[in-house]
Amino acid sequence: MKDGKLVIFSAPSGAGKTTIVKHLLSLNLNFGFSISATTRKPRGQEQNGKDYYFISVDEFKLKISNEEFLEWEEVYPGCFYGTLKSEVERICKNGQNILFDVDVVGGSNIKTYYGEKALAVFIQPPSIQELENRLLARSTDCQDVIKERIAKAEHEMTYADLFDIIIINDQLEVALQEAEEKVSEFLETSPDTKNCG
Ligand code: ADP
Ligand code: 5GP
Repeated sequence: MKDGKLVIFSAPSGAGKTTIVKHLLSLNLNFGFSISATTRKPRGQEQNGKDYYFISVDEFKLKISNEEFLEWEEVYPGCFYGTLKSEVERICKNGQNILFDVDVVGGSNIKTYYGEKALAVFIQPPSIQELENRLLARSTDCQDVIKERIAKAEHEMTYADLFDIIIINDQLEVALQEAEEKVSEFLETSPDTKNCG
């Protein structure tokens, strides 16, 4: 298997992206996870430096002015997320493929930047109602945060066509299998991109 490939996962919040990304990371596909910086607080079992780099808004803004981000977005009002250039370099230096978990705007920007070197995957929920059910069942966010995420989801769904493939996450086992197959095929057949340049 060749190394240095990029795979991007994007979806409205609650679609199951993190679940699918964690599954892919557990397989023997030589992936390094691009740990984003965020100004939101950790939730559940999340750990700094593993799930995210949890930083203050001031630190985030300093990194913007120092041009440390490949891309960044104010995904929700007052809540910033960004992909650090240093993460891409770290993972490339390790000789690994890179897995990104970013919002739909960030995902389409990274895809535009890397073109055919990247596989952009959109995870689609069966419906907005199911999205809400999942966020409620996950029990990691308060009512207001869930409302904010649901309100945004309809617009986020309109980005699906900008992605290389759409996986509908209805039955989780089916979606995991499809993600595994599509990503493995991309890693095996796409051109080598050493250094991710
Ligand atoms: P995201 O990262 O897109 O916000 P998560 O992976 O955290 O979404 O999934 C949201 C919640 O839905 C989690 O509690 C997860 O266990 C659950 N979930 C994921 N996929 C499915 C599915 N196919 N059916 C039911 N629940 C699911
Ligand atoms: P959450 O708060 O649920 O972890 O993430 C909210 C949204 O922000 C998700 O769609 C997630 O993929 C996205 N996100 C996480 N990291 C980044 C990043 O580095 N850049 C962008 N643009 N979005 C991100």
